[in-house]
Amino acid sequence: MKVLKFGGTSVGSAENMRRVASIITDVEGSKIVVLSAMSGTTNILVKISDFIKNKKTDPALHEIDFLKLKYQAEVEELFHTGVFLEKAHILLSYYFNSLVSKVQEIYSSELEKEVLAVGELLSTHIFQLFLEQEGFSSKLISALSFMKIDGQGKPDMEYISGSLKKILEKNNEEVIVTQGFICVNKLGKIDNLQRGGSDYTASLIGAAIQADQIQIYTDIDGMHNNDPRYVEDTFSVEEISFEEAAELAYFGAKILHPQSILPAKEFNIPVLVKNTFDPLSAGTLIHNSKIPDNRIRAIAAKDGITAIKIKSYRMLMAYGFLKKVFEVFEQHQTSIDMITTSEVAVSLTIDDDSRLNQIVQDLKGICNIEVENELSIICVAGDLSKNKSGITAEIFNCLKDIPVRMISYGGSNYNLSFLVESTHKSKALNLLNHGLFTESKKHETLVKVI
Ligand code: ASP
Ligand code: MG
Repeated sequence: MKVLKFGGTSVGSAENMRRVASIITDVEGSKIVVLSAMSGTTNILVKISDFIKNKKTDPALHEIDFLKLKYQAEVEELFHTGVFLEKAHILLSYYFNSLVSKVQEIYSSELEKEVLAVGELLSTHIFQLFLEQEGFSSKLISALSFMKIDGQGKPDMEYISGSLKKILEKNNEEVIVTQGFICVNKLGKIDNLQRGGSDYTASLIGAAIQADQIQIYTDIDGMHNNDPRYVEDTFSVEEISFEEAAELAYFGAKILHPQSILPAKEFNIPVLVKNTFDPLSAGTLIHNSKIPDNRIRAIAAKDGITAIKIKSYRMLMAYGFLKKVFEVFEQHQTSIDMITTSEVAVSLTIDDDSRLNQIVQDLKGICNIEVENELSIICVAGDLSKNKSGITAEIFNCLKDIPVRMISYGGSNYNLSFLVESTHKSKALNLLNHGLFTESKKHETLVKVI
């Protein structure tokens, strides 16, 4: 069994829903199809819920009307036969009336979660009705009947897999449609897996039923070897390990949140990232098994980095100094991304500088500090295990004209990161691309031709 997840853009219009239906029918075997809300919907629902919170009834009703008009137009385009069109309109009336009635209620976080759930409930109902109209055997199963979180907001895996197994025993349709994002909490009330949580739903379902594969359909053809906004001729990476994908994810390879694929990694379920708008392109397969071509996989960069250089002669031959430094960051709930140390100095980077002033104040009490901003971290991800000689030389050879501020290597076997001024980022990405990929690609092509 496979789990297929389609994001907001993939189900964002009648035309795209048709596309999704055709992809699903092309994938062999039985599948659970997880859908996000149509693109933009959850944002509008958040707005509506904020208006309810601030007792702004008219703007809330106005947003509901606006959203309803959009859905009515999509439904008119999707359904041709009278019976199905009528069913679709009844469905819209039901959900939009329920939103209108919530505007009159007193705001609570429970109410907010009920409002947010409407996006996924609508997209899945509409889509499954469409499959029915097209004559495909399918069944809509509410995620609220199996997706559950505990008191800490963590998924209750035992409950999820127990419930799903029972559901699958009873239903043998080839296509089961369900909602991403939404769940019930330990009180049995509607809750959610946080914004962007549909990937997490797919990963949890895949892990719970030991699926053969999880396919995440998005609007790009997988993970690219470099940032296409700055580098020409990037290509999608065919295979990548979970570790490498996790290293890249922080650096704005925005395709998948590393946390969202954790259940898939733990239960060893391969994740295939595909493009809804180009389903024939291979996409990127993320898995746990050893990838034969073990070299550099991809490069990514993150801007808006602040470096803090800490110097203290009290560090010389002392212990406990780093603890004091880290405590300051802990106290201000700021995570440290990169770190290098010498005997008397430590340099570290943060990407969230909202509490920088307080951090600086507190650090000044224990050491001398220097702050630098407008920096970028560049991450080279791949198999950089210790027994591979020459790979660091290859990387730094590309960068001989770039002033590098900090280097982090050896923290994991899967990444080498370094810090540059943001003004040098684009050049660095291009130089690395040329040195690490273009030449080897050319070589590969040559070998194939010969
Ligand atoms: N619809 C939700 C959101 O926009 C969940 C998702 O799309 O993954 O955050
Ligand atoms: Mg998403």
